[in-house]
Amino acid sequence: MMHPAWIEIDTIQFRKNLKAIRNRIGKSAFCLPVKADAYGHGLCEIAKIAEEEKIDCLGVSCLQEALALKNANISLPILHFGAICKEQIDELLECGAELTISSQYKAELVAKTCREKNIFCKVHIEVDTGMRRTGVKPESTIQLIEHIEKLNCFEIVGIYSHLATSDERENHFANTQIQCFKTLLQSLGTRSWKAHLANSGGVAFYPESLFDMVRPGLLAYGYFPNGEKDLSGEIAPCFSLHAHISYFKVVNGGEGISYGHAYKTSHLSRIVTIPLGHGDGYRRSLWKKGNVLIRGERYPIAGVICMDQFMVDIGNKEAYVGDLVTLIGKQKEEEITLWEISHLADSVPYEILCGFGKRLPRIFKK
Ligand SMILES: *Cc1c(COP(=O)(O)O)cnc(C)c1O
Repeated sequence: MMHPAWIEIDTIQFRKNLKAIRNRIGKSAFCLPVKADAYGHGLCEIAKIAEEEKIDCLGVSCLQEALALKNANISLPILHFGAICKEQIDELLECGAELTISSQYKAELVAKTCREKNIFCKVHIEVDTGMRRTGVKPESTIQLIEHIEKLNCFEIVGIYSHLATSDERENHFANTQIQCFKTLLQSLGTRSWKAHLANSGGVAFYPESLFDMVRPGLLAYGYFPNGEKDLSGEIAPCFSLHAHISYFKVVNGGEGISYGHAYKTSHLSRIVTIPLGHGDGYRRSLWKKGNVLIRGERYPIAGVICMDQFMVDIGNKEAYVGDLVTLIGKQKEEEITLWEISHLADSVPYEILCGFGKRLPRIFKK
């Protein structure tokens, strides 16, 4: 659908990112997290590319996402990271996702439904090595495994944990978690499951965290979790945000712009209106600090960002209705990065990406 503001996904760059990660991880399998609408990039389209690029499995965090993938006929295995919600067990089992189990209580609940439906379910054991979000304690893992085996409706295909501090290089606690996971695996002996630990930070900075499978989300979409750029130039963002100028006017000096008149023109100025706002996920907190690109130059946001539009002060420069505005991305020599926007909005790329709404079409450039 045509719309005056849109997100562009550079699918060629996205494929490059997947290949670059493949090269880094050697023999490890590649689980691509596609939760939260593939970090705002578009769940089903990204999943289709992942399938073409022979990714090993997709990571989701809830039933809704797993069902969307099934409805789009994506045939890759789906790993459900999220904690299991009691009311959704039926549907989770029916959609065939591999489930995460981290307590006997949930194991029993799921087993009960498995028996009723005569379904055998693939599961991953989640161990808490220090994230302290979900996961069985390392010292209780063996009991949980024995319990799950006794229930006779599960095949344990994975065991995993999550790193809390790997977005930084040479972080002490990340190494502690890697060591803890290693020690646990040794104590459990050889098994036919996949052990996995590495998120983006793990893949980027901790080769010892790779194990049998990796789960890098942010990195696959082109961002190092500490804001570094890939020196080899292989991994780069594939997301950009654009709009067409929707209105042009000339305003006298000293006039207030937008709600509250918090911004005032310093002299006679050309003001253009951009047709997207905080209702699309373009943060209101950007208004005093953020810039946009028009005709290859940076211009300041003028006044608070409204739900569906905001204004930009172009001074005495030229720009007219229909001109391309880039809010995240490049124009000529200038670039506004997602990291710049994240810092200005006191946020992180994860949150900004996930915040862009359904109203903005995703355009997939081949
Ligand atoms: C979201 C998620 C990931 C991916 O994290 P990134 O920091 O984006 O690499 C990996 N594992 C689990 C369990 C997750 O929930």
